[in-house]
This record gives sequence, structure tokens and C-alpha cells, in this order.
Amino acid sequence: MTLIPGDGIGPEVIAAAARVMEAAGGRFRWDVQKAGKAAFDECGTPIPDALIRSIRRNRVGFKGPLETQVGRVGYRSVNVALRKTFDLYANVRPIRTLPGVRSPFSGVDLIVVRENTEDVYSGIEHQIAPGVVESVKVITARASRRIARYAFELAGRERRRRVTSIHKANIMKLSDGLFLACARQVAKRHARIKYDELIVDNACMQLVLRPQEFDVLLLENLYGDIVSDLCAGLVGGLGLVPGANIGNRVAIFEAVHGTAPDIAGKGVANPLAAIFSGVMLLRHVGQPAAADRLERAALRLLAERRTRTRDLGGTATTAQVTERLEALLSR
Ligand code: ATP
Repeated sequence: MTLIPGDGIGPEVIAAAARVMEAAGGRFRWDVQKAGKAAFDECGTPIPDALIRSIRRNRVGFKGPLETQVGRVGYRSVNVALRKTFDLYANVRPIRTLPGVRSPFSGVDLIVVRENTEDVYSGIEHQIAPGVVESVKVITARASRRIARYAFELAGRERRRRVTSIHKANIMKLSDGLFLACARQVAKRHARIKYDELIVDNACMQLVLRPQEFDVLLLENLYGDIVSDLCAGLVGGLGLVPGANIGNRVAIFEAVHGTAPDIAGKGVANPLAAIFSGVMLLRHVGQPAAADRLERAALRLLAERRTRTRDLGGTATTAQVTERLEALLSR
């Protein structure tokens, strides 16, 4: 399995997660690879060939966040490049209320399904004239149909009742219109699952008023990026929310959060988002017993309210959370 510690808090949370995944009975041969800033500093490229070969060989990756320079023309986002290289078209982020975590809501249990390969992430941007810049949003029927299919099949597998497409087709009539048309086509083949649509601004308001009413959310890439962080806030923040990037051949698991430069290197990052991503990974690779064990231990740790990092109102370090989890796992 390819293990990418990543940048910022990545190495801290990925090391913690790898330890407890093993303590829960997960069996892996880790193949550690550098990417992002760490790779750029060492080999002059953020995506070394060895990394690509490793992922291609192992077909599963576990990854920390990678640094992308904001607004500067440095290297392109490595996250975006990996998603494109391996055609990881579905980004899946389960968001649910967790025991012992202070948050404005209870009973939230939804899944964000984000299209991961196109939209404004095409990277096509140019200056038309001084002071005028154009960014191109690309939406295709092929990618829209397959992400809709993924969302409905996931909803079926997980016994979900409803899929909601979130869009701005009132303004982007062609691009978001195409996305919706594809989702409607797919919805017709899944009569048992309710399908509806919400304009993205309204969806944001509904989500912060009545998040319990949502089930599976189907979104294009940019709306999915923003709405995921909003949804993380509904259940206690970025320190808790896991994610998976799924393609037909390869899957890469990673927390929703970024490199958190403000706390990197201090040993205080919450490792639980990475750990819950590890739970998803264990299920994906056919190790459900280890996944269940790790998930139960993590939920028990939260419910105890004893060992919590600062983002959850506690004072524990990353190492203390990891050690407490290991103790719970060894019972
Ligand atoms: P990037 O550009 O890599 O996305 P960012 O700072 O824009 O980085 P995040 O890294 O997601 O975005 O961090 C947003 C906020 O959430 C920061 O204040 C950060 O400290 C906090 N945060 C993110 N992940 C964690 C975590 N695992 N534990 C504690 N706090 C976190």
C-alpha cells in the first residue's frame, strides 16, 4: 500500500493513523513515498515517477495533505494532478454527528459525493487582456453521468433514501444544466431512491438550518469542495472528517483537511480525520473486522471526552490521542 505522509500536519496524523490501523489488526506492507513540497524540496518535482509507479502497482494509497501554493504560479496542485492521473472521479466524504463532540446539531448523517476530475479544476485559465482573466469551467456528460451513477449506487449499497443534486443551473444554464440532466437520467433508473435538486446557495442555508434532512449530496467539483468544509463544521470541524478518492482501478484515502500550517510541527493536530479515513481504507481493502474495531475504539475515545485535541476543546497532543486509542484497542 502506498503511504504518502504529505506536508504540514500530514506526517504527524498519517503516522498516528498507520499505527492504530495496525493495532486494530490491519495488515499492510507500507510503501512510503514522498509527494508535494517534501518531494519538491528533495527531488525537484512534487510528483516523482516513483510515487506514480508505486500507486499504480499498489492500487491503494493512504495520503496526508499536500501543500499547494495559493495564487502563485508554482507547481500545480498535486492533489488535482493525482486525481487526474488515476482518474479518481468520485470524492466521498461521510459526515456524521460523533459522540462526545460539541457541535450545533445532533443526528447529522450525510455523505458528500463530489465529482473530482473537472469543473473549474480543469486548470484552464488565461489573461485575455491586462486586468481581464478567464477561467474555464468544463462539465462533460460522461463525467456527470458516472458521478451520478456512483452516488446512486452508493445510496443503494448504504440503504440511503435520498440523493440531492446541488447546483447553480439558474446561472450556469449549460454546464450545470448538463450536470443536472445527467443526474436526472440516472435517477430514473433508481426509482426506490428519492431524487431532488437544490440551488447551491439555498442548499448552504438549508444545511446550516436542517442538516439532519440531508442524505447523499451530489455535487460538481467546486461546490463539493466548499460544501464539504461547511458540512465538516456541522459535526465538529475538519479534525474529524475522512474522505476517499475513488477510481475504477485506484483509490486514495485522505482526510478532508489541508496541511494546517498554523499548527504543523507542534504535535497537536487531531489525527481522527486521518484515522477515520483509515477505517474507510480498511473496508475498501476487505479488512472489515479491523475497520470495525478501529471505528469502535475511535468512537469510544470521543465519547470518553478525556483525551481530545485542542480543536475539540481539549488539551491532548496527537501522541496522547494515539496512545489512548492503542490502549482502547488492546482491551
Ligand atoms: P491548505 O491550504 O493545505 O488546505 P488551510 O490552512 O487552508 O491549508 P486546513 O489545513 O484545512 O486549510 O486548515 C483549516 C483550519 O482547520 C486551520 O485553522 C487548521 O489548524 C484547522 N485544522 C485542519 N485540520 C486539522 C486537524 N487535523 N486538527 C486540528 N485542526 C485542524
